[in-house]
Amino acid sequence: MNLSLANQFTDNLALKEKVALITGSTSGIGLATAHLLAEQGANIIIHGLVPISEGLELKQQFEDKYGVKVMFSDANIAESEQIDLMMLNIKNTFKQLDIVVNNAGIQYTETIENFPRDKWNAIIAINLSAAFHIMQQALPLMKERKWGRVINVASVHGLVGSAKKSAYVAAKHGLVGLTKVAAIEEAANGITINAICPGWVETPLINNQIAELAKQQGTDITEAKHQLITNKQPLPAMATPEQIGNLILFLCTDTARSITGASLPIDGAWTSQ
Ligand code: NAD
Repeated sequence: MNLSLANQFTDNLALKEKVALITGSTSGIGLATAHLLAEQGANIIIHGLVPISEGLELKQQFEDKYGVKVMFSDANIAESEQIDLMMLNIKNTFKQLDIVVNNAGIQYTETIENFPRDKWNAIIAINLSAAFHIMQQALPLMKERKWGRVINVASVHGLVGSAKKSAYVAAKHGLVGLTKVAAIEEAANGITINAICPGWVETPLINNQIAELAKQQGTDITEAKHQLITNKQPLPAMATPEQIGNLILFLCTDTARSITGASLPIDGAWTSQ
């Protein structure tokens, strides 16, 4: 009997025949996750707000590299109608959906007193409500096949707060709560639903925060980045998107079938303080 996780990943295509939707997979954590899942044989829905030409180029790259079936969607998940259309296309194309990574997200930093209402609405819609709309339509498809994996990409800000991040923290705490309820409802159906809670990750999402700090302090980008990390996180380094993607990949395996309803920090001890 082969019990090694490494062998499970390298000797077999562990996710062959599975279909995985990764929202926000044209960049950062989502893109790294899409590569890792496709490498294990999963058919992939690449999704994100990029021009169609860029999306189709990515689709071609994935098909050539991994030999899996790939669909591209540029649905704006701030709009529930666009989510409905994307889910209908997935159902018509693949007839099944086994893995959902609710990953797409945006950030905006400002005090509550000055927070623009449209930014609040957008962050709640994209970072929280979209996960609800997508799960509502994905769970029946998973239930049909008695197997499913949902990974909601929350954040340390699903567990603790930080100044100037009211909408983001509210949305990510909401996502952690939503994950718990979904896990309880689906536990008997072979479906696991978890949230992961990264600290700082090296992606374009945090560029504005680094630039703002550099401007405030009159320092260069490297120094500002170091300060941004160490202000909150004992481990003085950002995680890579691939490290986050590998945690997501692990949660997709059968080995992880008892992990459900969890909110897993991957945060360099940020939330240990
Ligand atoms: P990123 O900016 O690199 O990628 C974001 C993705 O979301 C892109 O593909 C973008 O097109 C997509 N997206 C944004 N708005 C969209 C919309 N309205 N409709 C459809 N797609 C949309 O960001 P990232 O850092 O990889 O973030 C991914 C997730 O990880 C987010 O939920 C974020 O909150 C979370 N996270 C990031 C960090 C970090 O430090 N980078 C830390 C903790 C959690």
